[in-house]
Amino acid sequence: RTMAALADFDGTGRTLDGHLVPLLSNVGGAADAVKAAAAGAQGVGLLRTEFCFLDRDTEPSVDEQVAAYRGVFDAFPGKKVVLRTLDAGADKPLPFLTDASEPNPALGVRGYRTDFTSPGVLERQLSAVALAAEGSDADVWVMAPMISTAEEAGDFAALCAAAGLKTPGVMVEVPSAALTSEAILGRVAFVSLGTNDLTQYAMAADRQLGPLAALNTPWQPAVLQLVRLTVAGSIAEGHRKPVGVCGEAAADPALAVVLVGLGVSTLSMTARALSAVGAVLASVTLERAQGLATVALAASSATEARAAVRAQLPILD
Ligand code: PEP
Ligand code: MG
Repeated sequence: RTMAALADFDGTGRTLDGHLVPLLSNVGGAADAVKAAAAGAQGVGLLRTEFCFLDRDTEPSVDEQVAAYRGVFDAFPGKKVVLRTLDAGADKPLPFLTDASEPNPALGVRGYRTDFTSPGVLERQLSAVALAAEGSDADVWVMAPMISTAEEAGDFAALCAAAGLKTPGVMVEVPSAALTSEAILGRVAFVSLGTNDLTQYAMAADRQLGPLAALNTPWQPAVLQLVRLTVAGSIAEGHRKPVGVCGEAAADPALAVVLVGLGVSTLSMTARALSAVGAVLASVTLERAQGLATVALAASSATEARAAVRAQLPILD
């Protein structure tokens, strides 16, 4: 039955009752983007720009950056592409931006924070993004990783505006950002939940350590509460701003249903997960997804949350 259902996925993310949830892909460069488009992705929800430059020990020139980003944009004409500014540090060190001697790299100068120690790199990247976007048909959105405060979100939005970029957003991957999403969304156009880091920081469990894997799962009710609070902060004065998910959680079909039930507006994942997530989403109404979100939030452990939700999704058997 699962295989038959998977074959039914037509590339558009929607629930059984027609609630649209665009299914986007996470990519690290043009080759990934071409594969994601072929797999039916409706756009890119996370372009990890540091992946374009992992082998570099010096900052790439603006021209090199324009070429790398344009390659991704060109795979998605007329579609949304969310580019993330360099997320250097911790699990993704870049020699030209990160200090390898930090005692706690996950709590160190990483992501947006590299702008504190290496001023200019972010401005040059944003000008490269603007140049690449100008010559392409993609709908380019840009977001900063590792944002902790509304003030940082505002500073990033100002840099985007100065570069001529119209749709600034930030990642919510630090618990403080989830707790202050309303203030953050007062300053930027959208947020995207990075559940990999959000889980690591909520559970105080290094995402790279195997012995902590049972703690380090986005099925943890505490992580789901942070997702719920982020969405609650996105609904102000009758309008709401987009809240996507671009962490690995979006690639787990049962968890994707829970995330939709919690109110997230888009899901971005590795291209190979698109059809499975699309098929499971198409098997439930929005109301049922909301019911499953309530079940997961009420569970007393991650294991119980996952088992209780999966028990109600027989399509996954
Ligand atoms: C995340 O933290 O969930 C995320 C999408 O970013 P990365 O895995 O690149 O840190
Ligand atoms: Mg992250």
